[in-house]
Amino acid sequence: MAEEGLLGFEETLGKKVVEAGLCAGCGSCVLNCPFWVIGFREGRPQLIEECPVCGVCSQVCPRYEFDVGRVEEFAFGRERKPDELFGVVREGGLVLARSKDPRVLEVCQDGGLVSSLLITAVEKKLVKGAILSGVKEGMPFYPDVRVAYSREEILACAGSRYSFSDRLVFGMGLAGAYWLAEKVKDREAHFAFVGLPCQVQAVRLMQMLPNPPVSWSEAIRYVIGLFCTETFTYEGLKSYLASHGIELDQVRKTNIKAGEFVVELKTGEVRELDLKPLLQHRREGCNVCWDFSAEFADISVGSLGLRGWNIAIIRSERGEELFSTAREAGLIETRPVEEEPHVLKVLSRLTRLKRKRGAEAISRARSGN
Ligand SMILES: Cc1cc2nc3c(=O)[nH]c(=O)nc-3n(C[C@H](O)[C@H](O)[C@H](O)COP(=O)(O)OP(=O)(O)OC[C@H]3O[C@@H](n4cnc5c(N)ncnc54)[C@H](O)[C@@H]3O)c2cc1C
Ligand code: SF4
Ligand code: SF4
Ligand code: SF4
Repeated sequence: MAEEGLLGFEETLGKKVVEAGLCAGCGSCVLNCPFWVIGFREGRPQLIEECPVCGVCSQVCPRYEFDVGRVEEFAFGRERKPDELFGVVREGGLVLARSKDPRVLEVCQDGGLVSSLLITAVEKKLVKGAILSGVKEGMPFYPDVRVAYSREEILACAGSRYSFSDRLVFGMGLAGAYWLAEKVKDREAHFAFVGLPCQVQAVRLMQMLPNPPVSWSEAIRYVIGLFCTETFTYEGLKSYLASHGIELDQVRKTNIKAGEFVVELKTGEVRELDLKPLLQHRREGCNVCWDFSAEFADISVGSLGLRGWNIAIIRSERGEELFSTAREAGLIETRPVEEEPHVLKVLSRLTRLKRKRGAEAISRARSGN
């Protein structure tokens, strides 16, 4: 019998998230259901057996009553100040950075900061490995979960895929199982996690769960977030490229810069395509999303149109520890953000735009229009 006051899947996520069109498809509810009664179909959770009503799934869902202040208190020890438009930032925590390693720069998306931070964490033994998104075999640019334990494995996952990996958070189960096994042997096994803002939100909620089987806050030591405007359905991305005569297996790299979808072909040819027609393939769950800069990560990373450089937002003490270790090890170089004043203007604009788009879509979804 269900404990009094607890709500089951149908009443919470089923009705108020999935049916309402708010689901981000992150998979956190599927991973954390202690009774394994939630399945995933076409990127959406649904009950596959009767729900014993324990109330866990709604606590780990970033689209169900997400309490910004509570999550900030947990992740950063304080709530954002009124003038912190991009969320909590540590003093001096806005900085331009890039990798100093030519092997990273060759394969990375922008400045290779994300890969460099992960390499630092693994090689300095701050973590056992990194949970991130790589590419599914036989499906070019389809993001799939990987656990990387070495520089080579991290670099094999470098670059951005503009579709969504609904197995990334779910795949944390792999790291969780490893962490549990090591815990039994009284050994430490921390991991770093890289994900999009919705996935970062889910991970934070998981870390805040009281009495989970895996202590996610111990198992996941660093949460690195990527800036994100939207992701596209894989089929949509394929058909958009096909309309330009391009197959995904001909592509070496994709990037979004100044309203263009930039496609670098394996032949070396670079095509700059109009982004607008691709927007019709935006995933439903992205319409209601209000978090551009991964506001709950230890370190958030984007490029904002910079060529060969990243902008980093260092938000937590752990984030600062990792960033300083990478810099002191000579793996990254930095520049003051003031050297590119337009970057902060773009960050402000995109943050406001995404909040407005998200708020409007949420109110449309709630009013049923
Ligand atoms: C879907 C998506 C949308 C983005 N939108 C913006 C944007 O609007 N503005 C902006 O400034 N930056 C955006 N970014 C971030 C940007 O593309 C780079 O990831 C960021 O600048 C880091 O660059 P890097 O050279 O350090 O990355 P790298 O060192 O190349 O590392 C990239 C990391 O991203 C991970 N990754 C790749 N694809 C995915 C995915 N689909 N889901 C989760 N993880 C993934 C990889 O596992 C890898 O660890 C977006 C990224 C993604 C994946
Ligand atoms: S987590 Fe609990 S409430 Fe949610 S589906 Fe599973 S059993 Fe039901
Ligand atoms: S947003 Fe994530 S946790 Fe919430 S219902 Fe969708 S898949 Fe489950
Ligand atoms: S816009 Fe990005 S962060 Fe938001 S739901 Fe879509 S993929 Fe997740």
